[in-house]
Amino acid sequence: MEWKKNDRVTVEITDIGTEGEGIGKLEGFILFIKDAVIGDIVEAKIMKSKKNYAYAKLEKVITPSPFRVQPRCKSHRQCGGCQLQALHYEKQLAFKQDKVKNHLLRIGGFSEAEIDSVMEPIVGMEEPFHYRNKAQYPVGRDKEGNPIAGFYAGRTHSIIANTECFLGRKENKEILDTILNYMREFHVAPYEEESGKGLIRHILIRTGFASGEIMVCLVLNYRGKAGTVQYLPHQEILLERLSKIQNMTSVSININTENTNVILGKETHTIWGSDTIRDSIRVRNMQKPDMDFTGDKLEFAISPLSFYQVNPLQTEKLYSLALQYAGLTGKETVWDLYCGIGTISLFLAAKAKQVYGVEIIPQAIEDAKANAARNGISNAEFFVGKAEEVLPEFYERHKGKAESAGIFESLPALTADMLYPDVIVVDPPRKGCDEKCLSTMLKMAPSRIVYVSCDSATLARDLRVLCDGGYELKKVRPVDQFGHTVHCECTALLVKR
Ligand code: SAH
Repeated sequence: MEWKKNDRVTVEITDIGTEGEGIGKLEGFILFIKDAVIGDIVEAKIMKSKKNYAYAKLEKVITPSPFRVQPRCKSHRQCGGCQLQALHYEKQLAFKQDKVKNHLLRIGGFSEAEIDSVMEPIVGMEEPFHYRNKAQYPVGRDKEGNPIAGFYAGRTHSIIANTECFLGRKENKEILDTILNYMREFHVAPYEEESGKGLIRHILIRTGFASGEIMVCLVLNYRGKAGTVQYLPHQEILLERLSKIQNMTSVSININTENTNVILGKETHTIWGSDTIRDSIRVRNMQKPDMDFTGDKLEFAISPLSFYQVNPLQTEKLYSLALQYAGLTGKETVWDLYCGIGTISLFLAAKAKQVYGVEIIPQAIEDAKANAARNGISNAEFFVGKAEEVLPEFYERHKGKAESAGIFESLPALTADMLYPDVIVVDPPRKGCDEKCLSTMLKMAPSRIVYVSCDSATLARDLRVLCDGGYELKKVRPVDQFGHTVHCECTALLVKR
């Protein structure tokens, strides 16, 4: 049977798609239905039909799934942020565990037996709400012209007014309401994408979970004089009000006058309080990750532009796992590729002889150095550049030079250690590691490779390359950093055969 647009169908949802949508089958014909939950029987309307499959719109849940829960957020269907809020959290975790397993199977080409012998159960959250330390709200107008802040509706740029996101901190609402009230009172215009007019584009809020310190950064379409101190009309009144909010530590503005989707511009100025907020990350004992801390912790200073993991409690578990997989005793030389502001590097440095971090963004490396100093760590060195360039250049230069002069044995010990490190840790962005980076890692032949990944598809692809190059996959463990979304972090350990 073929189905066409506007046909209504009744179907049981038997699977979850990669975007969190429900999947049902009718006589071999596959239906993708957003907002339908695995286990539901639903009525849906076909929106777009192809030969073997169609996208359909959820019209009515006829029999709700035992895994269906009441979502807390009223905007969860429109908002592009959460895809799984209607699914029981335990089932979300099972979905992520399966997703990683499937990628290892289909993309990595590992056998089911192999995967089952190395894969550990996903590390879930104790409380999967209010876990994010960072939120970025676009600012616009409602139909009456009032300023609003909220979220983009999935895949669009229309703003849904909502100052109460259940993934973010509860305090964010008070901050947003303060700013919106000020905008209304003093007729401060929100930015309009079409005309390029208006002042306030985005509100960025960050909180240090451990310190409680709050940072607010207003992204402005500011075209006034440079070097000024007054970026907003009646700025002193806004600052007076914001500074009264408990734990407010830093208020800044960021200038972005470009017609772009990129939220932040390059220039930031502190207009009240401190330039940074502090946060600390504790090392956990991963045998009992929810309760057991080793006593070690690291402190970081975070500025509006620096990258910092968004889920600090799960980050502790992720890093502690990476540290455990690295198996350090104090004698090791370690490379940490894609090191960001040096968070993992500094975790490793406390337990290794020497750590070398590589990161593409110069400002992040500046932060990494400052963070090392802040924690009294002197055995971590950082390099700016692409991992796929810094590592091969270093390797070819030193190895080539030493070999051609026949002095390989007499290489300075430090350089030899760097050429043949004990451990390499990588934590690349979603696209994974560059081939050149992987092939150089294989040449450097560390005893262990720890791969931290935010995309299990590229993880599986890269693990295959490393395993074909002489490594054995020993452990894989997903860590849920992003509850209610389809995203998932993962750590893997490879050991040289
Ligand atoms: N390990 C860090 C950062 C991980 S995010 C942490 O946990 O906080 C990935 C990092 O890789 C980002 O900081 C990004 O700027 C950096 N990056 C992206 N492409 C890169 C490349 N080709 N070479 C080196 N770093 C890169």
